[in-house]
Amino acid sequence: MVHKPIESADRSEIRDHQAERLRETVERAYENVPFYREKLDEAGVAPADIRGVEDVTALPMTTKEDFRDEYPDGLFAVDDDELTRIHASSGTTGKPKIVGYTDADVDVWSEVVARSLAASGVEAGDTVQNAYGYGLFTGGLGLHYGVEELGATVIPIGGGQTQRQIELMADLESDVFTCTPSYALYLAETAEEMGHDPRDLPISTVIFGAEPCTDPMREEIEERLGVTGIDIYGLSEIIGPGVSNECHEAQDGLHVWEDHFYPEVVDPRTGEPVEEGEEGELVLTTLTKEALPVLRYRTGDLTTLTYDECECGRTMVRMDNVTGRADDLLIVRGVNLYPSEIEHAVLDVDGVAPHYRIDLDREENLDVMELTVERAEGTDRGHAELREEILERLANVLSFTPDELSIVEPGGIARTEVGKVQRVYDHRS
Ligand SMILES: [Zn+2]
Repeated sequence: MVHKPIESADRSEIRDHQAERLRETVERAYENVPFYREKLDEAGVAPADIRGVEDVTALPMTTKEDFRDEYPDGLFAVDDDELTRIHASSGTTGKPKIVGYTDADVDVWSEVVARSLAASGVEAGDTVQNAYGYGLFTGGLGLHYGVEELGATVIPIGGGQTQRQIELMADLESDVFTCTPSYALYLAETAEEMGHDPRDLPISTVIFGAEPCTDPMREEIEERLGVTGIDIYGLSEIIGPGVSNECHEAQDGLHVWEDHFYPEVVDPRTGEPVEEGEEGELVLTTLTKEALPVLRYRTGDLTTLTYDECECGRTMVRMDNVTGRADDLLIVRGVNLYPSEIEHAVLDVDGVAPHYRIDLDREENLDVMELTVERAEGTDRGHAELREEILERLANVLSFTPDELSIVEPGGIARTEVGKVQRVYDHRS
């Protein structure tokens, strides 16, 4: 069921909203953010030139480097006393990206998360156990406000404390669990160690995000926990979680809440728009943000867009679930590989657990890749048999085989209890 009628409105109505809001956003950015005034002047675009959404392509792009250069609040369009909240996204290097919200921004955020939850099949009255980290990270509080907006009950437990998560889940009969995909699997393992059958836990839906998740990984989560697995997408620079979400009816792409965020897909090399249905880098423009309007943000996330009708009745565009980032690309001896391609190929092998790591090194000026894969609990397939099938599959699917393939026993690869999982270790630089 849709949370707001606009989710299934006529495309022309959605476009009218977008056009009006894009104009307002460009004006807000031009009038209040020197960075954008300069960029727009340079591009020779005035706010009055924006007549329809198609004019978005005339606007300059914003990158994560721009957030760093304008640290902490150079991209803000309001004075400090108009801010209600500040969050930050952790950078792997250097300073974090600081993001701010007005009262109205927090309301929009709550609403898009409530829509996302409704699309996931969550109803008022359900109990949502929120295992995203609270604090500067947008995951925890973002989900939290959306659950309240929907009229459901939130358990603000945050990340970690896995045994306690499981005890509380059982005692409070949580219906929904929100976390990263890797943590959902860790939860299942811990429940088993505690003597539970994970499928008997009361949760019927897991909403996962903040990490890429391939289809075999989702299937594993659904099977292990006996749940429906739903993908949520978002990023702090745009608002946080709740930019787009899968509908539980189709589980076939994530509906972008495009009356608030305008999506484009571009060629990551040239920045030029690609044809509908073609893969490229997702670029997002905020349409209603007050504190931090963002024009054409290059997310680095690879996806496709489809405007085809969805069986759930929503008319809002769907993006493919993000399984790779433009900057995740590994170049190994001149071969281009995404970790998600390796994940897809390896997890399809029967008897392999959904845990792996990739180590890259350089020996005598040559790239060397070691792939470590874990044997699934209870499989009767031996190492030699698994090794042969994995290598054959990688050679067939990717025309690439690692220099070393290690197969370890169940539990042999370290688990991540808090934060995002790391699977690639590049020791080359
Ligand atoms: Zn749908």
